[in-house]
Amino acid sequence: MRVVGTLRVPDSVSTAGSGTLRVPATRTGDKSNTGEPVNELICAHNLGYHYSQPSTTALAGVDFGVDSGQFVAIMGPNGSGKTTLVKLLLGLLVPTQGTVTVAGKQPRDARLEVQQLIGYVPQHESVNAQIPVNVRDVVGMAAQCRYDGALDRKEVRRRVQAALDMVELGDLAGRPYGALSGGQQQRALIARALVVDPQIIIADEPFARVDALSHQNIVNLLKWLSDEKQVTVLVVVHDVNPLVHILNKVLLLNTEMVLYGAPTEVLTSANLLQAYGKVVPILVCDEGFLHPLTEGQHD
Ligand code: ADP
Ligand code: MG
Repeated sequence: MRVVGTLRVPDSVSTAGSGTLRVPATRTGDKSNTGEPVNELICAHNLGYHYSQPSTTALAGVDFGVDSGQFVAIMGPNGSGKTTLVKLLLGLLVPTQGTVTVAGKQPRDARLEVQQLIGYVPQHESVNAQIPVNVRDVVGMAAQCRYDGALDRKEVRRRVQAALDMVELGDLAGRPYGALSGGQQQRALIARALVVDPQIIIADEPFARVDALSHQNIVNLLKWLSDEKQVTVLVVVHDVNPLVHILNKVLLLNTEMVLYGAPTEVLTSANLLQAYGKVVPILVCDEGFLHPLTEGQHD
């Protein structure tokens, strides 16, 4: 069923209710169609990856480019290659097909240089919650690694506090990391990505474990980074709806690329059927944005 018309999207899937997330007209659409020079920060050509053990093609024939400052969602069902793509961008995997470049460099050849541009929020928790470190240490370790000990302790502490303030965890800097809620831990991991002052943020399902309040905080923070700090933002999402109003582009995957483009081009019944293998209902909100109801379509 495709629901077309002026329907109110339920609050649970809409960002319209917040009243703060309308995208300025200049942010929508593809800059390459406007005659502006295209300055692609991330570029993939026929990109693919095949795991050998067990033999699995995780990604094939992916073509996309991300301009500096754009906000992009990567979506698709479970096992569609989203995390594999992120690992290729970070140079943690080397393409078995095609090429990918970040700031003109192949991550496979310039892994450290590329990783220094990127603040990465991994899908799975990589900090052992049993280890007795506090929130400040979790974030501070990233700053120490990034700047290779070149910052004095006072400066590290200042940057850590600034990053924690951004995710509204400034008051919890001294708390044991393991004592935080799932949503607070997720926000601490975002602070860890921000503390290195990245040009690019890549977050792999940052909303997976978070409560509604943290969810909205993270959306607002990503939008602020994109709008005010010109950070390029790539977010892997199960549910694209909280971001639909602020996205420039959507990359829809199902191992192969279904489509990459503006949300209104990509989030159509035919494309979602191709990605999810079943009909995905779509709501159109008062502002005319398409809201695919992909929750529950992932298995
Ligand atoms: P997504 O993030 O979209 O859920 P992934 O990129 O994690 O998808 O996985 C894509 C495909 O690659 C899946 O079929 C998955 O089972 C497979 N895969 C992921 N990691 C490995 C691995 N280390 N070895 C073999 N196959 C893998
Ligand atoms: Mg994944």
